[in-house]
Amino acid sequence: MERKKLVIIGSGPAGFTAAIYAARANLSPLVYEGFFSGPSGGQLMTTTEVENFPGFPDGITGPVLMDAMKQQSLRFGTQILTEDVDEVDLRERPFKVKGGKTTVLADSLIIATGATAKRLDVPGTLDGEFWQKGVTACAVCDGAMPIFRDQELYVIGGGDTAVEEATFLTKYGSKVYIVHRRDELRASKIMAQHAMDNPKIDIVWNHVLTKVEGSDVVGSVTLQNVETKEEVKRHAGGVFFAIGHTPNTAFLKGQLKTDDQGYLLVGSRSTATNVEGVFAAGDVQDKIYRQAVSAAGSGCMAALDAERWLTANGLS
Ligand SMILES: Cc1cc2nc3c(=O)[nH]c(=O)nc-3n(C[C@H](O)[C@H](O)[C@H](O)COP(=O)(O)OP(=O)(O)OC[C@H]3O[C@@H](n4cnc5c(N)ncnc54)[C@H](O)[C@@H]3O)c2cc1C
Repeated sequence: MERKKLVIIGSGPAGFTAAIYAARANLSPLVYEGFFSGPSGGQLMTTTEVENFPGFPDGITGPVLMDAMKQQSLRFGTQILTEDVDEVDLRERPFKVKGGKTTVLADSLIIATGATAKRLDVPGTLDGEFWQKGVTACAVCDGAMPIFRDQELYVIGGGDTAVEEATFLTKYGSKVYIVHRRDELRASKIMAQHAMDNPKIDIVWNHVLTKVEGSDVVGSVTLQNVETKEEVKRHAGGVFFAIGHTPNTAFLKGQLKTDDQGYLLVGSRSTATNVEGVFAAGDVQDKIYRQAVSAAGSGCMAALDAERWLTANGLS
């Protein structure tokens, strides 16, 4: 079985940035870029314009940006396998990494498998319908896009994320509606109060989204009252799901410590997990920032942490 100094699992901005740094440090990293788990390149492969990644004053599309990161990692000698990792065994060293076709041994590991935004299975919001044509799951990423300017925007959810996203969107939309299925927000009291005090935010209590319609982009939403089942169709320029994310950690089978939402726990000012030699980067350990540039930054940190750990343990 081949033995590698460093195996990186995941191929988003965190994984490829880690690979660039590790390859330049002569660690000959192996990246499992995924297969069934999603496209090589991660979440940005599902978006068009990325306007906030530094270095691209005119913006860049997600797929072009991610292909550039991949090519940059290959240039310095990264090896890439187009496979999902199905299992890792962290009980013995070197660690065992079992992919769809290939099993390798690894002295150190970087977990960069990202997180998946939860979406509702509502007609009109699916891929090929209005997903990414006015329906999205990231206000910070997409809110500033021209299609949302001065529009009535709908945020679906009732927790802190929904309130944060709605508040952020008030910079762009003419009005922001939070659609919540209950008669009370799940958000912390102070956040909920901020939302209720904000004149640009209205909360549509006891309603759920049942349909999104439009022509080229979103034009309307249909909301249903959960008590009376009455439906109302309202003009809308955008729909933002804010119902949480699922960190992609199932393959770890509980071997690393997570918080109560499943995000990997790392040390403060470090990417080290609770198992020595295993590091985590990007959205899989970050429920706060969730941006491409912050994922890339933590990928860099993870590669430096891994390199130092390998050196300190005579493995580099
Ligand atoms: C529609 C959309 C638009 C966005 N727009 C922006 C934007 O404009 N600007 C911005 O900064 N951010 C944006 N984001 C957020 C940004 O994409 C994420 O913060 C970033 O991609 C996180 O990077 P990551 O490397 O942690 O994980 P991801 O990008 O999620 O990549 C994780 C990778 O790991 C792979 N993987 C998962 N499980 C396994 C496994 N078991 N084995 C092998 N591989 C696995 C996945 O297939 C995926 O390729 C957007 C997100 C979405 C969904």
